[in-house]
Amino acid sequence: MGTSDEAAASKLHIFFFPYMAHGHMIPTLDMAKVFATKGAKSTILTTPLNSKLFEKPINSFNDENPELEDIKLQILNFPCTELGLPEGCENTDFIFSNHDLTKGNLNMKFLLAMEYFKEQLEELLETVKPDCLVGNMFFPWATKVAEKFNVPRLVFHGTGYFSLCASHCLRLHKPYKNVASSSEPFVIPELPGDVVITDEQVIEKEEESVMGKFMKDIRDSERDSFGVLVNSFYDLEPAYADFFKTHVAKRAWDIGPLSLGNREFKEKAERGKKASIDEHEYLKWLDSKRCESVIYLSFGTMSSFDDEQLIEIAAGLEMSGHDFVWVVNRSGSQGEKVEWLPEGFEERTKGQGLIIRGWAPQVLILDHQAIGGFLTHCGWNSLLEGAASGLPMVTWPIGAEQFYNEKLVTQVLKTGVSVGVKKMVKGSGDFISREKVDIAVREVMVGDEMRKRAKQLAVMAKDAVREGGSSDLEVNRLMDELKLVRMQKEQGTRT
Ligand code: UDP
Repeated sequence: MGTSDEAAASKLHIFFFPYMAHGHMIPTLDMAKVFATKGAKSTILTTPLNSKLFEKPINSFNDENPELEDIKLQILNFPCTELGLPEGCENTDFIFSNHDLTKGNLNMKFLLAMEYFKEQLEELLETVKPDCLVGNMFFPWATKVAEKFNVPRLVFHGTGYFSLCASHCLRLHKPYKNVASSSEPFVIPELPGDVVITDEQVIEKEEESVMGKFMKDIRDSERDSFGVLVNSFYDLEPAYADFFKTHVAKRAWDIGPLSLGNREFKEKAERGKKASIDEHEYLKWLDSKRCESVIYLSFGTMSSFDDEQLIEIAAGLEMSGHDFVWVVNRSGSQGEKVEWLPEGFEERTKGQGLIIRGWAPQVLILDHQAIGGFLTHCGWNSLLEGAASGLPMVTWPIGAEQFYNEKLVTQVLKTGVSVGVKKMVKGSGDFISREKVDIAVREVMVGDEMRKRAKQLAVMAKDAVREGGSSDLEVNRLMDELKLVRMQKEQGTRT
């Protein structure tokens, strides 16, 4: 073998296998870039339609970094109709943007259909022999598959330490069984920080349901895996990082905020889907605004409100008098309609607000100096992106682990206020009045202490990913361990 062949062979080869949802695919690509930048060979496994979403940012990364190993895509077969899914249903986006589909059932069906990948994964692990498989939490069967081929399997949940720990404590102690009513607040037992929540905000209580059993499979597969990769940084949630590593999963590496790996404008602009707004348009608009005077509102990729709620948000924004950028993730042709806006709203708020219908280049907007607050649904990626941009937040959780993430912001970090969502309401979310929107927006936009704390977090986030920072060192530590595993394997096959 020549020296360059030897160098190539000595590089770690990591498989990244994301769940097919933007909230998982986006940080997975960010993660593949982090490892590629450190000299690993990164291959992303995905389906034909999803590969289209990856192609552009991957090509840009490969072109910009000729000295690194190219990030590669491995396309897997996913015959939707054979699996009982509608044609083209390769991403949760499909489910959540088709209002006429019964989301609940289809969502579960989609999750369970992931097992179809098992055989293809086996074949790949056997033939390509990567050094590691970073598989999404929603592929619990992947731990056994990897074990069969002696490949260390890492789990990527996509969420942070706090919510993983909160889920653990709630599941273990079931404190919601001892309250008089579902709205009575209680402290989550064992979890550091005396965090208060209500029964109505706790998820996954039905352990015998299909989802409950699936979640158990996930926990078992995590227990048997090589460890957990967490998109977080130590200084954001030190007590929970420590708790997780002592009481929950034992082995975990915090390697975020992954979004900060995107340093160039183009990289940030190409995250996720194609933006629904021309970059000159929103930049010109934001450039015309005072520093920290605009609130950015987004509810992620899986939630959409009914007209009544949209009207309240619009009216609340108008009442607050603050400038805003509002992403309305309304799908299909409805995205173009304006009936849900209060009468004359767009004329009255001309200059005050910018509505983006569809996909916004979120990290670019959050980074703009005019943005001074973030009203978020508390999806973990958004929350971390907001923290990395030093923004105080209005929290508006809708489902999943978003209520737990909210508590991290409002009770632990104290960098935000709740808009007042009391409970999870499937489909539409808990109704919030215009008055509540107005009050929360004003509180966050003028709160000096919250802003100060948020800015400190942004400094810590950037420090974490710098060379020698906590997350950077964690990536090195993991890569060293994986190299050791490979060496041990090689020695094992020689003796
Ligand atoms: N995102 C974006 N533009 C949008 C909507 C979402 O760039 O218009 C990105 C956002 O920056 C984040 C991800 O999509 O990285 C959404 O993940 P999150 O965990 O916040 O929410 P989810 O959609 O999974 O509920």
